[in-house]
This record gives sequence, structure tokens and C-alpha cells, in this order.
Amino acid sequence: MRRIYGLCLVPLLVPLLGAAAPPGKDRRLAAYAAPVSAERMRASIARLVSFGTRHTLSSQTDPKRGIGAALRWTQGEFERFSKACGGCLVIVAPSDTVTGRRVPVPTLVRNMVAIQRGTERPNDVVIITGHIDSRVTDVMNATADAPGANDDGSGTAAVIEAARVLSKHKFPATIVYAALSGEEQGLLGGKVLADYAKAQGWNVVANLNNDIIGNSCGSDGLCDRDHVRVFSEGPRWQGREDLAALQRSLGGENDSPSRNLSRFLDNLADELKIGLDVRQIWRNDRFGRGGDHTEFLNAGFPAVRFSVAVENYDHQHQDLRVENGKEYGDTIDKMDFAYLEKVTELNVAALAALASAPPPPEPKAEGAVSTDTTVTWSAVPGAAAYHVRWRRSDSNQWQQSALLPASATRHIIKGVRVDDWVFGVSSVSKDGFESPVASAVPGGAFKPWVPAPK
Ligand SMILES: [Zn+2]
Repeated sequence: MRRIYGLCLVPLLVPLLGAAAPPGKDRRLAAYAAPVSAERMRASIARLVSFGTRHTLSSQTDPKRGIGAALRWTQGEFERFSKACGGCLVIVAPSDTVTGRRVPVPTLVRNMVAIQRGTERPNDVVIITGHIDSRVTDVMNATADAPGANDDGSGTAAVIEAARVLSKHKFPATIVYAALSGEEQGLLGGKVLADYAKAQGWNVVANLNNDIIGNSCGSDGLCDRDHVRVFSEGPRWQGREDLAALQRSLGGENDSPSRNLSRFLDNLADELKIGLDVRQIWRNDRFGRGGDHTEFLNAGFPAVRFSVAVENYDHQHQDLRVENGKEYGDTIDKMDFAYLEKVTELNVAALAALASAPPPPEPKAEGAVSTDTTVTWSAVPGAAAYHVRWRRSDSNQWQQSALLPASATRHIIKGVRVDDWVFGVSSVSKDGFESPVASAVPGGAFKPWVPAPK
């Protein structure tokens, strides 16, 4: 979607216009993303496939086969990038021993994570995830070859490529690159990392989860190389019943921070001009299916899932076999690396943009039984300006805006009724990077929802 923002600027703010939309911002984001390499990701996925299986219940000690070997290789990649940037990455392995419906014996679920600490606001954190574990038809089969090239070698390769490319730069906020285990056994690694983020006290601005991002043709022959789906929840699950009554009264069923992250990514893809448009899917995940971002949502953090425009069900969760002349299995030859490169470029630009912008404020809107609407917010450290934005309640994207200086914490919009429009505010950095918009509704803030005391 193209965005049309109506800017209403008073002359006082003209110097800020340069700050809010400098011609260099898009170029800078494009430059961050440009080194993303399809060939490097092809090599990463070939290496991941070479471990035979990366099933969560496979060997953790075999030097050549199984999830342990795959995690150690990932660790080596992170160490190599860190060495090249003078030790800019802190490598940790948040882990937990888990038993569950798909984990019959206590098993160590181990993630491999690289942390690139922010230079100005290290507690504001953006997290990219992909899952390193793989499976075949029987989710409990830990011994058969499970190449998992696309599911989710593609997401893991994007995580590694993002670390390689972005570790050469510095950002005000922290970027976390995470290869997760245990996804196929029940989003186990996602929960381990979300718990770790909570325990660290991180202010997680966004989790970008990448799961199946490397094919462009479906099992029916339908192909689409020009779109990526971004899944986002609408009402904030984390608030549950507590939030539902407030949202019925004040709105917010289409304004969770994750939904605003989806709008942000849609605009960003347009600005990048890499031949990739975001298809916003307004549900948490595919019909009846799941992914690791859900555990971040459960923990209260904004999160979205990237996935291909068209899935191919013959090449995911399948035993390697040929049946009636038809090939089944998640093998590397079925992937589209030019497409994977574009999706990874969008991720890299998004990480850079989110880690360069201050987090969004927590806005409020008032104006019941009034012809005007007043939007208020409290100041955000590092913000050089704020964009107040509003849209018709049924509009996909933000439609109108006003740019306010850093000193502003209030804006009155004359003749615009709070009943018919949705309002939000974003923060803008001194060099023009803008956060996603936080909606002025219950549960719209990017911080976890805090239920009212009973
Ligand atoms: Zn997956």
C-alpha cells in the first residue's frame, strides 16, 4: 500500500521538516540492506542442511549430525562477525530443560543468540528470530533426514545474514539476532527467549519472526515473487479479558502495537523500492497454525511473522520421497534465493530503522461529545519530534498527520471527531528515523499491558 500523509505544518516547524523527512533517510536504509547476499544465504542453508536433521530431539553432541552441531556452527558464525567488528556482539545461549506433549524426555532447548548493544538506548531492543530446528512428516521423528531448507533454514539464514550485515554499523538501540530451537515441538525456544527478554528487563520494541521466507511458488503452481505476508494480531491478546471491555468502549480492535508494526513494515517496503510489497495479513498467524512470535505476544511484546506469499505444502513437514513421480521434502533446490534476498533486505532495513528511532510514546485521545480531539503523550528520551497521526476507523493506513517539536506533549485537532477516527503518535529521531505509530487506545502502547488491580 502507498501511504498518503497530509502534512500540516506551521512555519515554526519548517526547520523540523528537514529532520523528519531528510532525503538521506531512505538512502541510508537502502544502503544498510544492499549488502544482503542471496549467495551467502544459499551457503548458510546448504550448511544447515548438511547436519542431516536439526530436530530438537536429535543429537546435541554429535560433531556432524543433529541440532547440537547446527547450533555450534551458528555460534561460530556469530563469533566470526563479532571478531570482525572488534567484539561488538555478545553471544549467549538462553536455554531451558523442557518436557512436554512433543518432548517425552527432559530435553535441553537451546537458542543461539547474538546481542549488538545499542550506543544510546541499550535497553530498547529489536529482535529478529528464525527457528533452527526441523522436522519431517512425523513431528516426533528425530532420526530421519529433515533438511528444513525453507522451514526454517530460510529464517535462520536471514538472522545470520542480518547479523553479518548490521554488525558493521552502530545503532542507538540494541539489536538481538536469535536462532531458536524447539519451534516444531511447541514454540519452546520462542518462550525461552521471551522469558529471557523479560528477565533482562528489555523494552522489546519489536520481534520480527521469520518462518518460511524462501520460496515463491505454491504446490498448485501459483507463483508470487513480489509480496511477503506479514501476520499481526489485532486486539492485544496479552491483555485478554481485562482489555476486552475497555476496547469495546474505546476502540482498539485493529490497533495493537503488532498491527501498527505491520503498517510500519508495509510503508518501509514501499520506501525501499526493492520490488517487494507487504501483504498485511490481519490475523496472528496462518489459519490454525503458529510460530515463535506468539510467545513474544504472550509475554506482552509487539511481534509479527514474515512468511512467503504462497506456501508450498509439498516442501514443508514432509518425509523426503517421490510419490507418483512427485517430489516431497523441504530441500534447497525448491527455494528461490532472489526472493529470500528481498525478504531479508526488508528485515535488515526494518531492524536498522527500528534501532535508529526512539520508541513510540504512549498516547491518549480525548474528545467524547466534542467536535475536536485532543491527543496527549509523555516525552520520549531521544525524540527530536513527534508525528501525531490519524485515520478513519476503517482505513488500512494512517491518513493525516501533524509534526510537532520535541517540546510538545499535546495536540488539538479541530473539527476531527474522536468517534470516527483513530489517533496515534510516533517518535522521530534527530536524523529523521521514525518509530511505528502507537495508537491512542487501550492496549495500543508498545509497552506490555498492565491490568488494573482487582
Ligand atoms: Zn517453521
